[in-house]
Amino acid sequence: MLYKTKGIVLKSFPFSEADTIVTIFTKENGKIEMLAKGAKKLKSRLSSSVQPFTLGEYTYYQKNNNLPLLRQADVLDHYKNLMKSLSLTFSTYYICELLDFFLPSAQEQSKVFDLTAKTLDYLNRYPDNHSVILSAFKIKAMALLGYSPQLASCVHCGRGHSDNKFIFSIKDGGIICRNCIPQKTAFLAKKEIYLLLLLLKSTFEDILKIDISINDLTVVDSILVRYIKYHCDGRTFKSEDFLKNYT
Ligand SMILES: [Zn+2]
Repeated sequence: MLYKTKGIVLKSFPFSEADTIVTIFTKENGKIEMLAKGAKKLKSRLSSSVQPFTLGEYTYYQKNNNLPLLRQADVLDHYKNLMKSLSLTFSTYYICELLDFFLPSAQEQSKVFDLTAKTLDYLNRYPDNHSVILSAFKIKAMALLGYSPQLASCVHCGRGHSDNKFIFSIKDGGIICRNCIPQKTAFLAKKEIYLLLLLLKSTFEDILKIDISINDLTVVDSILVRYIKYHCDGRTFKSEDFLKNYT
């Protein structure tokens, strides 16, 4: 059967002298691994469309359970600014690694697809804001993938924000108030909880209008990195070490 769908390349690797295996996050059919025959040849029409981070219109053929074959590809955007700095490139690699880990094969995830396309577009257009855009992607993507953190009230007793202090519990998936924590511990500042909520609920457009302190963002992002790590069995993405060193 022949499929035609928008897609974003998550990764590609050489399969033989001329061919490439490419993992594409398609809008209509989710994550699909496919064979791009001849894509390694310089003159191939497919070669530029199988580079990581490319947004394109992909036509592929799949018969029974065979590896799908990429037939045709039209590049819609190369997001070429993403290759201009190491921090941007590794931010994008992080996104691709996260999606490659969490997305099941061949299941439509069109909301996650739209979020990813929007994130790459914003990173490409606002490279100076890449840290906040990446943090917003992390929490929004986790929520859409079924791991939405509970931030409005205590996970255990349901108490709200007013007159209360909270920690973020990775294991419990949300905030826990001081009444529910047996031992003394460092609490989150209220503005950090609001920052998590802002990143989760607001559009990129609105997030970029707000002046967010680097310190608050660093605290919140480290929570998100640990939260993601917890949900992917402690695995460390290859891009993480680079991000630590270059951002
Ligand atoms: Zn509580």
